[in-house]
Amino acid sequence: MSLSTPATTTDLRLAKRMSRLGTETAFEVLVRARALEAQGKHIIHLEIGEPDFDTPANVVSAGVEALQQGYTHYGPSAGLPELRKAIAEDVAKSRGISVTPDEVVVVPGGKPIIFFTMLALVEENDEVIYPNPGFPIYESMINFLGAKAVPVQIREDKDFSLDVNEVREAITDRTKLIIINSPHNPTGGVVTRRDIEDLASAIGDRDIMVLSDEIYGRLLFEGEQYSIASVPGMKERTIILDGFSKTYAMTGWRMGYGVMRPDLATHMSRLMTNSNSCTATFTQRAGIEAITGSQSEPERFNEEFKKRRDVFVKGLNQLKGFSCRMPHGAFYTFPNITQTGWPSKKLADALLDQAGVAALSGTAFGAFGEGYLRFSIANSTENLMLALDRIDQWTKRNL
Ligand code: PLP
Repeated sequence: MSLSTPATTTDLRLAKRMSRLGTETAFEVLVRARALEAQGKHIIHLEIGEPDFDTPANVVSAGVEALQQGYTHYGPSAGLPELRKAIAEDVAKSRGISVTPDEVVVVPGGKPIIFFTMLALVEENDEVIYPNPGFPIYESMINFLGAKAVPVQIREDKDFSLDVNEVREAITDRTKLIIINSPHNPTGGVVTRRDIEDLASAIGDRDIMVLSDEIYGRLLFEGEQYSIASVPGMKERTIILDGFSKTYAMTGWRMGYGVMRPDLATHMSRLMTNSNSCTATFTQRAGIEAITGSQSEPERFNEEFKKRRDVFVKGLNQLKGFSCRMPHGAFYTFPNITQTGWPSKKLADALLDQAGVAALSGTAFGAFGEGYLRFSIANSTENLMLALDRIDQWTKRNL
């Protein structure tokens, strides 16, 4: 074979649906940032949504011990019974509802719950209401399945909570699923108990399911985390998505879960059998320790994020052309940058290339993200201050 022979000689006859699959820009920006680092540039990483803390030592030890004890084989598709039990008890306590282990499905991360919920429930031409700006995987999966993506704008003037009237107006006879996410990525907005109750009454007795993405539920700085599953009558219409990635700094372990009516859990478990077989068993053993062991590390993470949020938001508000609301949860800030006169993507690119600060364009989270940037605060206070300083210098040179 000569060196000039192309690696492939036949056409790739990709399934049409692949053209409808989106992506998560954070990973692409990370690759670009790494390429700049390879050229010797110093980059402050505020693009990726993962805690900068290490997994708590007790959880790591539980994982290592599990490996040594032989948890290296397949396990049940829906998860180890002892982990499902621990999750059921934890969710029951935190949401004030009754949960049995057969309502819990353990999967490799929070993301598969989004994928599987939609695979199990959503058909072509069904309508799915979802937050925009919002976690990009929602829109990607809705389009992938050939359903109709119905965005509901998450508005700054509503403090980035959910506008329930807009949801009410968006509901039609074809609405199959409503996705909510609180605390919200990318804005840090939190939906109040009142809005959750209003949303439940807007749904009424319609046959609509709710995917309630509560992955940042423990990362709350003020206010109350209230699940729609806690509203009387809503539990059987809700799929709670939660997991270990954010709360316990376990992004790389790949473990999350869904809580749902048992009949749906059986189907979700079949989807697991068909795709992953099971979540890694030693990871699940570590998950038991995460939930039932000391909570001092996750509490420390929260306190640290809160401190960083306070200083970073204060700093953002001093930058020319930036104004930023105080996020109430998660570890993101979502400043409005319209006064810079720059479009979001162009500004994010310029900050990366010229100021060495990696952030995401608001449009990475949907069309309604135009006019905003997302900065993760999952980096040290020192680096956050340095990033503010670099952006300040940049704005002085360019605005
Ligand atoms: N849901 C939201 C809102 C997220 O921001 C993320 C991760 O960024 C996930 C789900 C998925 O988390 P995991 O890494 O556990 O798959």
